[in-house]
Amino acid sequence: MSTANESQVAKRLESLLRLQSLDSKLDEIKKIKGDLPEEVQDLEDEIAGYETRIKKIGDEISDLDAQITDKEGAIREHQKHIQKYEEQKMNVRNDREFSAINREVESQELDIQLAHKAIKGIKEKIVQKEEQSTDTQKQLEERKKDLTSKRKELQSIMAEKEEDEQRLLKDREKRIKGMDERLYKAYMRLRGNLRNGLAVVLVKRDACGGCFNIVPPQRQVDVKEKKKIVVCEHCGRIFADVEEHIVQDKKKISRKKVAGSTSTGSVLKREFKEEREIRPVVRVEADSDSDAENEAEETE
Ligand SMILES: [Zn+2]
Repeated sequence: MSTANESQVAKRLESLLRLQSLDSKLDEIKKIKGDLPEEVQDLEDEIAGYETRIKKIGDEISDLDAQITDKEGAIREHQKHIQKYEEQKMNVRNDREFSAINREVESQELDIQLAHKAIKGIKEKIVQKEEQSTDTQKQLEERKKDLTSKRKELQSIMAEKEEDEQRLLKDREKRIKGMDERLYKAYMRLRGNLRNGLAVVLVKRDACGGCFNIVPPQRQVDVKEKKKIVVCEHCGRIFADVEEHIVQDKKKISRKKVAGSTSTGSVLKREFKEEREIRPVVRVEADSDSDAENEAEETE
């Protein structure tokens, strides 16, 4: 494989990784911009719910008021009847007629009593409804305050995100200009098919950074060499590189190396024990320090 081709693949991968990073930021902004209006919408729905409830209680109170008016009208009717009976009493001819009229009057009076009792019950209900309405009104006012502040917050975040988005879109525009068209199309297709929009990933701790399936050692070698574009055999994501998860270990080792307490050979053996899974070819012997160092440099 020519070095020209290798460096071209490496360049393409780097370019893809940068585009992915831009797109991931844009995705994040889109998500934030989508979530905030949803929060406002939830509050608006809640407020509409309280308003409906208050209106319903108002209607119920009107109904109860109408019932009271009816009962009061009925009482007036009963009183008229009683008055009429009282007048009739003046012209009775016998006791039987007199007691019949008295029974009618008593019946009318009983109806009046019942109507008064009913009115009392209805008035109690109205008081309860009015309390409910006042409570709901309070909740409504609080929610309205929340909504006002949420809207303000949303506006400022939106403006800020809008700025970020525009800047990122400009960067993106510049970035895709120099890109290989086929590669870009493949990237966009891949992104469209994935829920998190992550089309370009690193191999992290021997696993695909997108689907977390293990990436076989030989495949990792191919990824690192960058002679061709390697994709995950499980999810199809493009591997940009292998993340150096042994960097920290190496640092520890090199500190020990400086201290000089252990022989370089055994230290390198440990170092390559980690690498062996990735590069099974490499075996380091205690007496071949210089070769081992060369190998180590190549893997970086
Ligand atoms: Zn994968």
